Order: sequence, then structure tokens, then C-alpha cells
Amino acid sequence: PAAGEVLLDVQAVRKTFGGLVAVNDISFQTRAGQIVGLIGPNGAGKSTTFNLVTGVLRASGGAVNFRGQRIDGLPSRRIARLGMSRTFQHVKLVPEMTVLENAALGAHLRGRKGPLAAMLRTDRTQERELLREAERQLQRVGLGELMHEQAGNLAMGQQRLLEIARALAADPALLLLDEPAAGLRHKEKQALAEVLRGLRAEGMGILLVEHDMSLVMDVCDHIVVMEFGTHLMEGTPAEVQRSEKVRAAYLGT
Ligand code: ADP
Ligand code: MG
Repeated sequence: PAAGEVLLDVQAVRKTFGGLVAVNDISFQTRAGQIVGLIGPNGAGKSTTFNLVTGVLRASGGAVNFRGQRIDGLPSRRIARLGMSRTFQHVKLVPEMTVLENAALGAHLRGRKGPLAAMLRTDRTQERELLREAERQLQRVGLGELMHEQAGNLAMGQQRLLEIARALAADPALLLLDEPAAGLRHKEKQALAEVLRGLRAEGMGILLVEHDMSLVMDVCDHIVVMEFGTHLMEGTPAEVQRSEKVRAAYLGT
């Protein structure tokens, strides 16, 4: 995508669970080459928003556009093929598979071809191609040396980076990360921040849900703040840090 191109355009998206309004008419945009943070206290609706955008959940109202195409209502695999990859709040690796094999799982989503092409892709050459692609992505996040390790043996920070590599292997224009710094040590967070900056420099769009405020303030270009399912405010990290509303939401005053 061209630098600055609008990737994700979320328009008044809503999700109710029974009587609970988990996401209440949320609107925001993300652009290529930009890291957008989505923050807010626990239960604010951040993960639900991710699930609405990626097609894991169906919205109760509103619209989601991705690169100019309406995507709400599409199955998540279709959305992924359009160039949107995500990681989950809880690590979803296959611990008994190698690092390389885990990363290769993401490469199966590459390309815009339909299920027939995917079915025909099971021959040896294609498989080697997937592994080569997976290896490239592991190098991108600094895990190249560990590719033959069992994924379950990695430190938490490395597992998070592996999830990112797997998401990258699908060749996304937009990467959605749900709390990638959870459980990481300071050094691991720094490595993560470095990887995110590198991806941004290459023109990737990133939507980041994260509790670690120093990481958010450090890497984000723009921040959307949610509270109780609603859009509380948005702005630059400096604007968000200055906001009385945001302070009150976090301190509960
Ligand atoms: P966050 O990620 O910001 O912590 P979530 O999106 O996980 O918040 O949750 C927002 C609200 O929606 C919470 O009150 C949560 O309990 C509720 N919720 C989330 N998923 C479901 C679900 N599948 N069924 C019922 N309620 C849910
Ligand atoms: Mg969450």
C-alpha cells in the first residue's frame, strides 16, 4: 500500500452481548506506515473490536471497510486473505512444533487466490516455498537462529515475536496485535518495540492493543482510547497523556 493510505476504516461499529453493549458505535481509521494504539481499561471492548474487525465476531451495527472494500460480514479467512493478520491476547502457538513450522502455518494464508489454489498448493515445491517464507519472517523479528527449536521451549518474549512472524507470513498490509507485551521483561519489550518500528518503516499498518503504557506512548503515532465500549478520545501520545478524561478513566475518579 502507498504510504498514508487508509487501510482500516471502522464506522460506528457496535456489538451487544445480550443486554451488554460491549462496543458502542466505535469509529476510527488506520493508515499504512502508522502504528495506532487502541487502549482503555479492562473490559473497555478492545478485544471485541479486534474480533469485529477480523470477522471473528459479527457486528450488531455499523460498517468496517478495509482498503476501500466493505468487509463486515465476511468470514475471517477471506478478510485475512485481503491482507489483515492478527495475534491473539493469549498465545496460540503449537508448542510441540518447531518455531519454523509454527511460522509456516501463517504462510498458508498468503496470496489472494481461492480455496482451489490453496488445495493445489500441497506439493513439495509449494511446501518448500512456505518454509522459505516463514524463515524470512523469522529473520525479520530476530528469531532466525531459533527456527529449529520447539516453540514450547521459547521464552515468552520469543513466543510473542513468533506469533508476529506467523502473522507476517500471511503477507498482511495491516497487522493487529492484542497485548503483545503481556508477560514480557523490559528487554523483551524493547526488542518488540524495535520490531514494530521496523515494520512501520517498511510501510506496514499496525493496530496495537496494549496495556503497557510506556510501550504504547513510545511507539504509537496515534491513540484511540475506549472506556465501557465507547470512544473516549483520540489523539497523539502527548494529547492522550495530557487528557483529564483519560486520566479519570484509568484512575476511576
Ligand atoms: P478488553 O479487551 O478491552 O478488556 P473485551 O472486548 O474483552 O474488553 O470485553 C468487553 C466487554 O464485553 C466486557 O464486559 C466483557 O465481559 C464482554 N464480553 C466480551 N466477550 C464476550 C462474549 N463472548 N460474551 C459475552 N460478553 C463478552
Ligand atoms: Mg482484551
